[in-house]
Amino acid sequence: MTEPGDPRPLVNLEGVNKHFGTLHVLKDINLSVARGEVVVVIGPSGGGKSTLCRLVNRLETIDAGKITFDGQELPAEGKALARFRSDVGMVFQSFNLFSHKTILENVTLGPIKVRKVSKSEADKRGMELLERVGIASQAGKYPAQLSGGQQQRTAIARALAMDPKMILFDEPTSALDPEMVQEVLDVMTGLARDGMTMMVVTHEMGFARRAANRVVFMAGGEIVEEAEPDAFFTNPRTDRARDFLSKIL
Ligand code: ADP
Ligand code: MG
Repeated sequence: MTEPGDPRPLVNLEGVNKHFGTLHVLKDINLSVARGEVVVVIGPSGGGKSTLCRLVNRLETIDAGKITFDGQELPAEGKALARFRSDVGMVFQSFNLFSHKTILENVTLGPIKVRKVSKSEADKRGMELLERVGIASQAGKYPAQLSGGQQQRTAIARALAMDPKMILFDEPTSALDPEMVQEVLDVMTGLARDGMTMMVVTHEMGFARRAANRVVFMAGGEIVEEAEPDAFFTNPRTDRARDFLSKIL
C-alpha cells in the first residue's frame, strides 16, 4: 500500500507514444494516477488499453515521452527493473497460475524467490491473503480444481503477496462465466476501499461506478475523455464516448 496523503502522483505519463511497426498505438498520452486512486480505463477493443498497462509495467518500452513511477523514470533493465516490476502487481484476463503448484504455493512463490521471505513466513502471510480473497479453504488444491473466479482471486492474492504499490488489472473478469464475475469484482472493490492504487481495464460499468475515482475513455490510441464516473456515465462529453456507452449499457 502507498500513502494516500502523499500529493505526488504514483504514476505519471507525459507525451507517451507507442508504435508497433507503422501502427501508432498510443498517441501523446498524458495521464497520472494518484496514490490510493482507482482509475478505470474503458473503450473499444484495439484502442490501446492493454498496451497502456504493459507500458506502465514496462513489459513494453515507449517510443517517446516519459513515464515515472514514484517520482522515478522506469528502470531500463537489470535488478532495478526486476525490483520495479515486483512493486507493480498485474492481474490479467488469463489467470497465469502455475498449474503444477498448489494455490498457496502460487501465492508464496514470489515472496520466497524474489523477496527472500522464509517459507513459514510466506505461508502465514499467504494464508491471510487467501482468507482475504475468500479461498483459504482451497489452499492445498491445484488451479485446475478451482473455478475461474477462484483462480482469479488466487491471482489477486498472488499480486498482493508482493506488497505492491499498485495493481494493474487488464480485463480481469472477461474470461469468467457470468456467475463468477461478481465475486472477483467484490474482492477488487474491497482493495479499492482499503486504499490500493489501481488501474483497471474493464467493461464492468457497475464496478466503475462503484469503485472508480476516475474513468478514462480510450479509443484509437488516444485518451478521448476523462471524468468522474457519475459525470461520465450520465453525461459523456464526446460523441465517441456516447456511442461506446450506447453499445455496452
Ligand atoms: P485494447 O487492449 O484496447 O484492445 P491493445 O493495446 O491490445 O488494445 O492493442 C492496440 C493496438 O495495438 C491493436 O491494433 C493491436 O492489434 C496492436 N498491438 C497490440 N500489441 C501488439 C504487438 N505486440 N505487436 C503488434 N501490434 C500490437
Ligand atoms: Mg486489451
